[in-house]
Amino acid sequence: MLDDSRAETLVAAARGGDARSLARLVSLVENGSAELRSVMRAVAPYAGSARVVGLTGSPGVGKSTVTGALLRAYRAAEFRVAVLAVDPTSPFTGGALLGDRIRMQDHATDHGVYIRSMASRGHLGGLAVAAPQAIRVLDAAGFDMICVETVGVGQAEVEVASLADTTLVIVAPGMGDSVQAAKAGILEIADIFVVNKSDRPGAQEVMRDLRGMLAMAARGEGAWRPPIVSASATGGEGIDELVTHLDRHWSWLAESGGRDRRRLIRAREEVSAIAIAEMRRRLGGLPGQSRLDELAAQVASGKLDPYSAADELAAF
Ligand code: GDP
Repeated sequence: MLDDSRAETLVAAARGGDARSLARLVSLVENGSAELRSVMRAVAPYAGSARVVGLTGSPGVGKSTVTGALLRAYRAAEFRVAVLAVDPTSPFTGGALLGDRIRMQDHATDHGVYIRSMASRGHLGGLAVAAPQAIRVLDAAGFDMICVETVGVGQAEVEVASLADTTLVIVAPGMGDSVQAAKAGILEIADIFVVNKSDRPGAQEVMRDLRGMLAMAARGEGAWRPPIVSASATGGEGIDELVTHLDRHWSWLAESGGRDRRRLIRAREEVSAIAIAEMRRRLGGLPGQSRLDELAAQVASGKLDPYSAADELAAF
């Protein structure tokens, strides 16, 4: 069992650049380990300075390729960069695929890079708890930038927009994306749009459709206006422009107070996800043995009303 002092030792080692300690911490998060309380206590003083960039879009639009290009660009600027791929749709296969796609071997000996995919294996709170905790661990380990890649928008268990300081929505021609886009509400979550695969036919039309949709969206005075970047990530085109917009958005967040606001939203989601998971754990005790069963028996027999029973359960 990992007590507080051993958790502190592990966190200190991860902060010192020890990749195995970091991997161990992320695994504890992924597995929803009972030791997480100690880990999170040890991590808390160090988290809060990393810049979290979320990347989302349909499978195949080029999320991993764009992530890889950003990783190289920010690494060249001496950022320590972590990539977290969160795939709610395929809990067991995400890892290997991501490793191949971002060409992990390019960074195998670079301590300024950490790439990890995450599933919700055994975690009671699912990825809604695990993803923000993993971000917290990577942040505390000293990464300057954390790229979080998730599939899809809207229906995903983890909304990348609630995790990130800056959310990139990636679309590509030939995938019916711009039409889907309006439906899935990506206009609200995108801070920057990337029309990837601009080397392919139809890219101009996607740019035009997006511009049209954005022109119609009402935005208040001083609000951020999401730029649209045309890119071809495999050839590295548009990546410099994307970096410029990412940096602009980061400055804008600082000036507008948005950074603190987003951190607050993230913490709120995290706390409520933990509380809900804890509630589920209490509700799901062994049949016939949980407090819920005792209370249910009292409600069924008329000894207690259901609101009082629920109040008691919530305060349990
Ligand atoms: P993801 O599923 O969204 O992460 O997409 P990937 O990054 O794995 O890319 C899917 C496929 O599209 C791969 O075969 C990439 O090589 C290819 N791809 C990515 N970016 C571009 C691009 O800018 N142009 C072209 N033509 N292909 C690209």
